[in-house]
Amino acid sequence: MNTDRLIRTDVVVIGAGPVGLYQAFQLGLQELAVHVVDGLAHAGGQCAELYPHKPIYDLPGIPVCSGEELTHRLLRQLEPLRVPLHLGQIVTTLRRLAAEDGMSASPRFRLETDGGLAFACDAIVIAAGVGAFLPRKVPVPGLEAWEGRQVHYHDVPPETWVGQRIVVMGGTEAAARLALRLADHGSSDVTLLHRSDRFALDEALDAELQSAIGAGWIRLCLGQPVQALASDDGRLEALEIATADDRRLSLPLDLLMPRLGLNPRLGPIAAWGLALERKHLVVDTEGFRTSEPGIHAVGDVNTYPGKRKLIVCGFHEATLAAFAIAQWLRPHERVVLEYTTTSTRLQRLLGVDQSEAGNKRIGTGA
Ligand SMILES: Cc1cc2nc3c(=O)[nH]c(=O)nc-3n(C[C@H](O)[C@H](O)[C@H](O)COP(=O)(O)OP(=O)(O)OC[C@H]3O[C@@H](n4cnc5c(N)ncnc54)[C@H](O)[C@@H]3O)c2cc1C
Repeated sequence: MNTDRLIRTDVVVIGAGPVGLYQAFQLGLQELAVHVVDGLAHAGGQCAELYPHKPIYDLPGIPVCSGEELTHRLLRQLEPLRVPLHLGQIVTTLRRLAAEDGMSASPRFRLETDGGLAFACDAIVIAAGVGAFLPRKVPVPGLEAWEGRQVHYHDVPPETWVGQRIVVMGGTEAAARLALRLADHGSSDVTLLHRSDRFALDEALDAELQSAIGAGWIRLCLGQPVQALASDDGRLEALEIATADDRRLSLPLDLLMPRLGLNPRLGPIAAWGLALERKHLVVDTEGFRTSEPGIHAVGDVNTYPGKRKLIVCGFHEATLAAFAIAQWLRPHERVVLEYTTTSTRLQRLLGVDQSEAGNKRIGTGA
């Protein structure tokens, strides 16, 4: 694939879920250069995508905290370490540079994303959870030909849709919010296409949507698309809709924005030749190494005897993986354990240096 940018770093963490974020923090404490990549447009993994407003009750020392709040806290904790997050980028390709050279090379690995980024690194941590969240596609043959031009599974800038006939498809919260946002921005021609008049929404959002439909700001079309209709010049002109009462109608459009929900898929990672057990990466419990040296796996994506898919277990795994990676990349040093409470090195990294010199520095801003 064509890659616009090559980034050299010590470690790449694949996944910015809670465990991936904490992994980056622990690698940062080991003074390793880290980049984090996630296919979603935001950090937080399942916590942010599946249950942002639901309470979590079993995090140590935090009696209650929502998925969204946990994500914010992890990002805040990571802030002083200035770890770059590359969002909206699915890691698709892994190349072994050492194997190609037939010798131990540095960088050892090259990773590429579907967004044109490439990383050269010496270690990888896969924190991919249940997989990359990919948008569910509209099951209409041939529709993919218009993807990125008239069919958009991700948000596009307003200049793309102003003055256009837009069809938003789906009964999800994302579909309802997008239709309302478009109508709110004065798009006069917004149709919400859904198979029934029932939506999976909370009460307030459902009421808002029903009132926009009632006021005529959003047109509701009930049915399933069965065919894409093209104009003579090859544009997507309309969708043929099968209605619940078995009629066929043509729904003209300029833009189709399906929001049918997201499907998690391990996808390309499953084809990288790493040992798998029931679609999970097999790891040891000392450094959470996969079957290949230099590639570790933490959080929901891994498996080992006694594995439990809990956030706190992922945090433990990430801590030990960071020690193992630091030792692997610095074979001639002894990687020692230091407490954040007492280590001036760690406190300096975190910008909370408690030493006399550090206090002076922080106090004077020097
Ligand atoms: C409804 C619900 C409630 C829960 N409640 C609790 C609870 O109370 N306590 C608890 O401990 N746990 C709870 N869990 C489980 C907890 O959310 C998971 O254990 C945790 O999210 C795992 O974190 P992770 O970082 O390993 O993976 P995830 O959160 O799944 O994050 C993985 C990230 O990797 C990204 N990714 C995957 N593949 C790629 C790729 N190829 N390229 C780029 N990015 C990629 C994904 O986009 C995703 O953002 C709950 C889960 C659910 C669904």
